[in-house]
Amino acid sequence: MSKITISFYGAAMRVTGSCSLLQCGDKKILIDCGMLQGGGDEDREANRDPFPFNPSELDALVLTHGHLDHSGRVPKLVEAGFSGPIYGHTATGELAEIIWRDSARLSAKWDGGALYDEGMVDKAKSQLAPVRYKHTVEIGDVKFRLFDAGHILGSASILFEYGGKRVLFSGDLGTPNTPILRDPNTEWDVDKVDAVVIESTYGDRLHKSRKDTVNEFKRIMERTIERKGLVLIPAFAIGRTQELLFHFNDMEHADTLSKVPVLLDSPMAERVTEVYRNHRECYDEGTWAKIERGDPPMRFDGLRELVTSSESKQVKHMAPPAIIIAGSGMCTGGRIMHHLKDFLGRESTTVVFVGWQGYGTLGRTLVDGADKVRIHRQSIEVRANIETLGGFSAHADRDALVAWSRHLPGGKKRFLVNHGEEDSAKGLAKTLRDEGHSAHAVSPDETIEI
Ligand SMILES: [Zn+2]
Repeated sequence: MSKITISFYGAAMRVTGSCSLLQCGDKKILIDCGMLQGGGDEDREANRDPFPFNPSELDALVLTHGHLDHSGRVPKLVEAGFSGPIYGHTATGELAEIIWRDSARLSAKWDGGALYDEGMVDKAKSQLAPVRYKHTVEIGDVKFRLFDAGHILGSASILFEYGGKRVLFSGDLGTPNTPILRDPNTEWDVDKVDAVVIESTYGDRLHKSRKDTVNEFKRIMERTIERKGLVLIPAFAIGRTQELLFHFNDMEHADTLSKVPVLLDSPMAERVTEVYRNHRECYDEGTWAKIERGDPPMRFDGLRELVTSSESKQVKHMAPPAIIIAGSGMCTGGRIMHHLKDFLGRESTTVVFVGWQGYGTLGRTLVDGADKVRIHRQSIEVRANIETLGGFSAHADRDALVAWSRHLPGGKKRFLVNHGEEDSAKGLAKTLRDEGHSAHAVSPDETIEI
């Protein structure tokens, strides 16, 4: 039988920088080309390192989804000589383009200059080759199909077939019952899979239920509204913001939240929301039921989208109560910064963190209980309430990962665990071994033969 090799050039014993090279005979296919994030200047600069393979020799790139840590270095790959097709779900291409343009703009402020420019983004865009779920793509003797991974719009697990063997890349797997999106695919039309590369972001932890989290979210907002305060929600532009809009739409109909304006103050999140609104083919049944009732799932009467920065700066003159959703999700830049500067000093304000906060970020400093922070070179006293909700995760927890693995075809399998910090990756590998499989957490730059 022909052999398949997989080299793990990113997201091994860590979460960011996803990049794996699949070699089937003379075909070389890259799966994801993400940016390294979160470890400070060292990681940021590592994004400039040459690739550990020759980009001009690649036959294709396949993207599991559009998040920065899976697609952020694609224009750099193109600049380094990659000229082949960039496969991914149609929505993935549209989200990736938004991410690339944002990265080109943001990285221009880095000490060493931009990681890539708009010209490279245009070139990468011209190489996009949109694919539908379950549609077979052939690269010589290698075939692959995308299956819904339920993580963000267009996210996919990728099933490769070559020389009588099958390798499945889970991609980032979503949490079952996430609004808007379908649950990760569990219906497979093949009888066996030889190896599975599985993510492990929460491979050793469990999430609070979505329902309890939404109820807690409502209680926090109602308390703030009662005392005529402002609710500030730093939110990620892709996925989290659209889920929040979905919940606000629900709350408006159930009349569970007093009618206060909800200001969406993030141009990037607005562009992403438009992509979400345009891809109804990715929606789950609950979202379709809303559409069939004539209720657009990410719109509601109280929603105002702030477009210009002067509109955003007017917010400090408005009379609360109000709810503001603004980026960036970890308070490392974006419009949330001036809202925090204006409102952190007020006891009536509540800042609600709805996503994980990386070490060294302002978001993390606030979550850890700082009583003073520096924003735009000003020292700001923190009098606001700081709340953290951990149950909105876009990643499957340990039990959901195991449940997904139980639906895979065939008996015992070989699991290669990536995309998790060491404890999570090793924890999930042990759990999968306890299920009777062979499983190990892959190391950086490890190459495995199937
Ligand atoms: Zn992701």
